[in-house]
Amino acid sequence: MQAHIPPEKSARVVILGTGGTIAGRAGQASDNVGYTAAQLGVEQLVAAIPALAGQALEAEQVAQLDSKDMDFATWQCLAQCVAEHLARPEVAGVVVTHGTDTLEETAYFLQQVLAPAKPVVLTAAMRPATALQTDGPQNLLDAVALAREPGARGVLTVFAGAIHGAEQVRKVHSYKVEAFASAEGGQLGVVEEGRVRCFAAWPQGQALGLA
Ligand code: ASP
Repeated sequence: MQAHIPPEKSARVVILGTGGTIAGRAGQASDNVGYTAAQLGVEQLVAAIPALAGQALEAEQVAQLDSKDMDFATWQCLAQCVAEHLARPEVAGVVVTHGTDTLEETAYFLQQVLAPAKPVVLTAAMRPATALQTDGPQNLLDAVALAREPGARGVLTVFAGAIHGAEQVRKVHSYKVEAFASAEGGQLGVVEEGRVRCFAAWPQGQALGLA
């Protein structure tokens, strides 16, 4: 398989950081579980991925928490922030870095209130940023590719190369890096070497709107 260069690297993507294991640090690189979540800023996560250098990206820290502590005020602030960026014509899509514990709840909430016509892609990691084989950078790279995918829409998650819709995504494992699956309706697609392969229709829906 050849490395794929995305056609529209100039399409602007906004990356919103909220914390989680993807931004976590452990004392030793061999430690995948004894870490503290939400230690690195979103700009540091982006800077750690050479493949993202020079791309049309913006990074903004919306929160910095372990997602087990997610609350209504943060959800409201995040939804507002996502909506504001999506309204900018030059923004192709938004990525949200998140913890895995409440990723499915945040995805469902954002889909219900925004039902966006552009892609909003949540991603996360099972291993901290300091791990020998951390999964965060690849997940973030895949999320940016999906946020730029022409025709993609709705709130999506990408994790270990698998794309799940906001209404189907479930956390199914507390240790493996393949920690998410889709319930009824199935996985929507995959991201392979920066290329999106879609198996099913992107999420549609009527936005309930923000209070
Ligand atoms: N407790 C962490 C969180 O949800 C776990 C993770 O990100 O995997 O923020």
